[in-house]
Amino acid sequence: MFAPNSTLFGRVIGRGPREGRTLFLTFDDGPNPGATDRILEVLEERSVPAAFFVLGRHVRLHPQTASRLARSPHVIGNHTQRHPKLHLRGRRFIEGELRAAHASITDVLERTPRCFRAPHGLRNPAVHSVARELGYDVFGWTLGVWDSSCPGAEEIRARVRRGLRPGAIILLHDGDGYASEGDRAQTAEALDGIIRDARDVGYEFRPLTELMTAVPGAGA
Ligand SMILES: [Zn+2]
Repeated sequence: MFAPNSTLFGRVIGRGPREGRTLFLTFDDGPNPGATDRILEVLEERSVPAAFFVLGRHVRLHPQTASRLARSPHVIGNHTQRHPKLHLRGRRFIEGELRAAHASITDVLERTPRCFRAPHGLRNPAVHSVARELGYDVFGWTLGVWDSSCPGAEEIRARVRRGLRPGAIILLHDGDGYASEGDRAQTAEALDGIIRDARDVGYEFRPLTELMTAVPGAGA
C-alpha cells in the first residue's frame, strides 16, 4: 500500500527495461505557469520526451499552460482531480476523482489520457479497478529525489545524477499537489543539467508510451 511500485493491488509500471540505457522523465502535480512553461522550453531545446501527470483542478485553473502542454508531444496522464490520498478511500470517491480528472483533461486539453499515477503512489484495489475501466496503465516510479522540498537546483540535479540506473522512471514535480501555484523554480532550473548529466554517461530519454500497454479506445 505504501510502496509506489507494489503490485499487491494490481499491475503497476515502476521501471523500464534494465537492458540498455534508457530513462523516462515524468512530472507530477501541474500544470503550473511558474514551472511547466520553462520545463517545456528545456525539453524542446534538448529534444527530450517526457510525461506529465496532471491534476484536473490545475488543468482547469491554468488553461493557458495546460493548452501549451496539450500542443506539446509529451504524454499527459491522470493524477486525480484534487490530489487526495486514495488508499483508504472507497470506490465511489476514487471513481469520482479519476473520472473528474479524465473529464478535465479531455475537455480542456482535448487529449485522452491513457495512464494514471496515484498521489504519493498510494493505491488500493479500487484504484486499479477504476483505472482499468478507464483504459489506463498505472505508473509508479523508480527514482524520486524530493525536489518538492526545494533543496536547491544543484542538489536536485546531483540527486538525479547519483540515482540514475537503466530503465529508471524519474519523478520530478512541475506543480504542488496542494497549492495551485507551488514554487517549482528549482526543478525547472535543474532540468537542463539533469539531461546533460544523463546524456554524458550514455543514457537516452525515451517516451513513456514505450512502457504503456493500454489499448487506445479501451474503456473510453
Ligand atoms: Zn502528486
